[in-house]
Amino acid sequence: AEELKIAVGAMEISDKTVGDVMTKINDVFMLNETTVLNPKTINEILRMGYTRIPIYSGDRNNVVSLLFVKDLALIDPDDNFTVKTVCDFHKHKLRLVMADMSLRALLEEFKKGEYHLALVQRRTKDPDYLELVGLITLEDIVEEILQAEIVDE
Ligand code: ADP
Repeated sequence: AEELKIAVGAMEISDKTVGDVMTKINDVFMLNETTVLNPKTINEILRMGYTRIPIYSGDRNNVVSLLFVKDLALIDPDDNFTVKTVCDFHKHKLRLVMADMSLRALLEEFKKGEYHLALVQRRTKDPDYLELVGLITLEDIVEEILQAEIVDE
């Protein structure tokens, strides 16, 4: 039954980590903070269809803020604002988590409602360097709960 499947899915996320269900970094749509918001770039952003876009400074490993697509509603495309200008104005909370964090723990955090997206990092051999490996949203966790297969029938 569907109810049982959901219950099992809810239990199964206890064993899973953020890294298991995240969207991998190469599939993440992000923008450089220096991107100028003109009609062309605004169109591109809208065409991608994402609600939130990670913004990096320098290289893609260095995400510094989030752009919400709804922030663009107030932008005059002829003003040629940069993404940085818009992000500095809104200052949306940026949450970074480690890939080995349990899904259960992140779900509890998302349930508090302050934010529903996190960037995912992992440690490297260099203790001073964290590598950006993906992005995860509440949607990814909910999907995991709803789609988990019952293996032990
Ligand atoms: P959206 O409202 O942007 O569709 P959701 O939270 O509904 O975001 O997530 C839907 C899927 O899209 C999830 O798998 C999530 O990891 C992925 N996702 C969200 N934002 C981005 C992004 N900027 N680039 C790539 N994938 C993303």
